[in-house]
Amino acid sequence: MTAHRPPAPTDRPAPPPPPVRAAWNHLLATARRTVVDGLVVGTSGNLSVRVGDLILITPTGVPYDRLGAADLLAVHPDGTRVHGTLTPTSELPLHLAVHRGTPATAVVHTHALHATALSLLHDEVPAAHYVGGLLGGTVRVAPYALYGSPELADHTLRALRDRSGCLLRNHGAVTYGTGPAEQALDQAYDRTAQLEWLCRLWLTAAAVPGARPALLSPDQLAEATARLGGYGQGAPADED
Ligand code: 13P
Ligand code: ZN
Repeated sequence: MTAHRPPAPTDRPAPPPPPVRAAWNHLLATARRTVVDGLVVGTSGNLSVRVGDLILITPTGVPYDRLGAADLLAVHPDGTRVHGTLTPTSELPLHLAVHRGTPATAVVHTHALHATALSLLHDEVPAAHYVGGLLGGTVRVAPYALYGSPELADHTLRALRDRSGCLLRNHGAVTYGTGPAEQALDQAYDRTAQLEWLCRLWLTAAAVPGARPALLSPDQLAEATARLGGYGQGAPADED
């Protein structure tokens, strides 16, 4: 009679649980939206979202429409890969810095055209419209550093102080969202879209020959920022 042998030990990690798979699907849907909406060309840009102690993150150099459920890529907050085989985005240091150093649970980075153009011209996004309040106030431009470098991660974190978005000089934009994964991704995406619109507004108005576009005062922007904190439907009212 042959002895019954126990199964060989395996160091393969347990498959990701359903909430992690759902967050990955929402990450991919949000990533594809950045392309469809013209905020990303080719493989520029990258996204991440935090679920518990995992950070789901897009891989480097892979078009979003080629990624599916089987490509799920997750790292530990120290950058160690936990799930997946693809190499994470070259901006892994930036994403980890924003997750560690701000209330972010989702981060969106793009090379949106007007945001990038404005980053060449100013140190801050001019206060041309009250939607700047959605980012927490006047949006800063982080100094240039090589893409993927720890220096760029440091500059970004500094530019994000008390703000949920910033520009990266000669490079692009970064925004973050907070709360549960899907809500945070939607919020980070919306902030990117609003920031791009704000930059486009300014460049459009400033391009008029002889123009001196009117700007909001710091008090007016602060007032709008405070009001935007309560913007939207909020919690449903109690029924009587
Ligand atoms: P990845 O393809 O490595 O994400 O790089 C794109 C990018 O935007 C680098 O700043
Ligand atoms: Zn980039």
